[in-house]
Amino acid sequence: AEPGLLYSRILLKLSGEALMGDQGFGLEPATVDRLARQVKAAHDLGIEICLVIGGGNIFRGLSAAAEGMERTQADYMGMLATVMNALGMQSALERIGVPTRVQSAIPMASVCEPYIRRRAMRHLEKGRVVIFAAGTGNPYFTTDTAATLRAMEMGASAILKGTQVDGVYDSDPRTNPAAQRFSEVSYHEVLTRNLKVMDASAIALARDNALPIVVFSLHEDGGLTDVLRGRGRFTRVG
Ligand code: UDP
Repeated sequence: AEPGLLYSRILLKLSGEALMGDQGFGLEPATVDRLARQVKAAHDLGIEICLVIGGGNIFRGLSAAAEGMERTQADYMGMLATVMNALGMQSALERIGVPTRVQSAIPMASVCEPYIRRRAMRHLEKGRVVIFAAGTGNPYFTTDTAATLRAMEMGASAILKGTQVDGVYDSDPRTNPAAQRFSEVSYHEVLTRNLKVMDASAIALARDNALPIVVFSLHEDGGLTDVLRGRGRFTRVG
């Protein structure tokens, strides 16, 4: 790997919404391609990359449950949505020459590999990007929790959470022009001030295992590699 990088193995978490572009739903090919190029740039630095993608651009269990669908059933649909996103990202990455594997927490033998930790480790060592699909495999969880769990299982040194804004603010920068961005913030402060980073169970899990969460913007084209080099704008939760 290039010298001076902050991390050698990362878990990149993208929300499903990051894939939909201006379409407002589903996967927009040009947007998925742009994200894949950011992943490729990080991969070209020699970093080992795990990827977890949400499903909110297709289906959210909680919203469907609010409309009367049985919650666990709705959550399984949400998990299946993340598999679609994983396959879409796999295809975009492979088109630009990045080797990948998809592993699903819900076994789906003819579509992708099942999640097997030691096998995933081997893929990383061989330079493959491993995309973890189907969240944790359990209803009532989120892909933020899945990202934290897999980051720990894989021995990643941080979660990189790509978002629409360049870090964590004390209030919403899109509505409050005086909002202040933190360069560092503690897990405790995120939880007690209810700052929008990841859901509370994911933050608590990261805190209990001292796993840093780095929040950065996906909008800049070299955004991810800048963060990995310790440059650019981001917030480190630790
Ligand atoms: N989900 C779940 N268990 C998990 C991960 C996800 O049940 O371990 C379901 C849940 O219904 C959720 C949906 O999958 O609403 C999509 O995931 P998420 O909302 O985390 O996606 P994101 O907001 O990151 O796009």
